[in-house]
Amino acid sequence: MKRYTLLALALLWALGCDDDGGSATVDDGGAGQGGAPSEAGQGGQAGVSGEAGQGEAGQGEAGQGEAGQGEAGQGEAGQGEAGQGGEAGQGEAGQGGEAGAPVGPGGGEVPPEIEAPEGVEAIEFIGVQITNGQSELFEIELPEDVLSVTMIVLGDERHMVTIEHFEGPDGQVLVSANPPGVTINDFDRMFTPFPGPFKSPNRVAVASMAVGTMLAPNNPEVAVGPGPWTYRLAALNATSGAPGNLAVDLTVLIRRGPEPTGGLLDVHLHFTGAHGWTAANAPTDEDFQVALARMRAFYAEIGVRLGEITYDDIPEAFQTADIGAEPGSVLHQIYALNRYSSGVGLFFVERINSPFGAGSIGGIAGGTPGPSLIPNTPRSGVVIATEADPDPRAIGHIMGHETGHFLGLYHTSEMMMQDTHDQIPDTPQGDASNTNLMYPTVTAGDAHLSEGQGWVMKRNANMIPVEE
Ligand SMILES: [Zn+2]
Repeated sequence: MKRYTLLALALLWALGCDDDGGSATVDDGGAGQGGAPSEAGQGGQAGVSGEAGQGEAGQGEAGQGEAGQGEAGQGEAGQGEAGQGGEAGQGEAGQGGEAGAPVGPGGGEVPPEIEAPEGVEAIEFIGVQITNGQSELFEIELPEDVLSVTMIVLGDERHMVTIEHFEGPDGQVLVSANPPGVTINDFDRMFTPFPGPFKSPNRVAVASMAVGTMLAPNNPEVAVGPGPWTYRLAALNATSGAPGNLAVDLTVLIRRGPEPTGGLLDVHLHFTGAHGWTAANAPTDEDFQVALARMRAFYAEIGVRLGEITYDDIPEAFQTADIGAEPGSVLHQIYALNRYSSGVGLFFVERINSPFGAGSIGGIAGGTPGPSLIPNTPRSGVVIATEADPDPRAIGHIMGHETGHFLGLYHTSEMMMQDTHDQIPDTPQGDASNTNLMYPTVTAGDAHLSEGQGWVMKRNANMIPVEE
C-alpha cells in the first residue's frame, strides 16, 4: 500500500535550526523589530494579490511529520523588511491603558460581521496591540452554557502570531508559555517559536505566519467553563525572530448550548482543473464523487454530516502550490481565495512543491484549527494535492484528513516528534493508529475517526449543531 506524508498546518520553524537554537536567527535582528507594521487589518489580505517579496520569510514550514526541516527558511535570509512598515505605528494606545488589571482588548469592540451559525457568539476586537512580543493580559467572561472557545488572531505575513496564555477562573491553565509540569527542550524550541503553548494541556498549534488560532477545549481531558478567563496574545517577527510589535485583529467565537450530538459542515470546493476536475464537471464526475463520498463516510461515523456543498473554479495558475514558507506564497494566495464564511474551503491542486520531493505531500491545512468563519485570510482553507495518490479514495482520505486539522484535530502521533501524540485518549499512539484518519500518512485503505475526535470536531465554531 502506498503511503504519502500529509502536512498538517505543519510548520517546522527553521529559524533556529542552526545548532545553537535560540540565538540563531538571521543577522538582521535589529532591523526586524523596528519596522512593525502600523495598521492592523490589512495584514490578513496580503497573500491575495501576491505581493510576495515583502522581505522576510525566514521560517521554514516543514511538516510536523516530515524530514528535512533543514532547508526552508534559512535560504531567504531577510532581505530586510525595512521599507514597509517604517512608521512604527505601534503607538496607538487605545487599549484601556490601566495596565495590571486584565481588560478586554481595546481599539474598540465592533459589531460582529461574522455570520456565526446558531449557537455561536462572535466578538471581534480590532487593533489589539502587541508590544515587545506580547499583548496585555485580557479578560473575557464566558457564559454558563459555554461549550468551546475559538480565538483567531489575524496579523500579517511578516509575523508569527499565537495565543500564548489561556487561564480559567479557578486558575486552571489550559495554555501557557510555561505550562505546569512541562519541560521545554531545545528541540521544542527549534520546532516552534512558541513551544509552551504547543506543549500545553490544550495544545496550540505550531506558530504560523499571519494567523494564529486556538480551539479550547481541543481534547476531552480539559474543560472550559463559565466565568472570567484571562488570555494573552504573542507575536514575533518571522524574519528575525525578534519580539513582534504590531496591531492584530482578534475574533473570539464562543460556542454555546447543550452537548452536540451531531454537526453539519458546509463544504466549499475549489477547482484548478487538476485531475481534470472543474466546477462544471465535478458534481457528476464519478471519481470526484467517490472522493467526496469517502470524506462523507468518515464524518458520518462520528455524527457529522456535510451540509451545503458549493463548486467553484479558481485560476489554473494555482495547480501547483507550495508549502507556504514565505509571505505571499502561492499557498497563502490560494487560501485567501476562499470567500465563504461558513464551513471549510477545499482547494484541489495538482501538486504541492516542497523540499521533500515531488508528490510527497498530500495536503496542507490552513491551521489546527483553521480560521473558522473568516474568509479571505492567508489560512482560510485546506489544499489537496491530487497527484500524490490519484486514487479517488486516497484523495477522499486527504479531504477528510486536512479538514480534520481545520476543525482542530492533530495527528495521532507526529512522525518527527516521536513523543508528540494527540491529547485524545481513545486514539492509539504510533503505528497502532495507522487506520485512524489523522495518522500522518495517506491511504486508499481503511480509516476512521474516533469518538474522542468527533467530540472535538463537533465543538468547532463552523459546525452547525444538529440532532443525530
Ligand atoms: Zn496532517
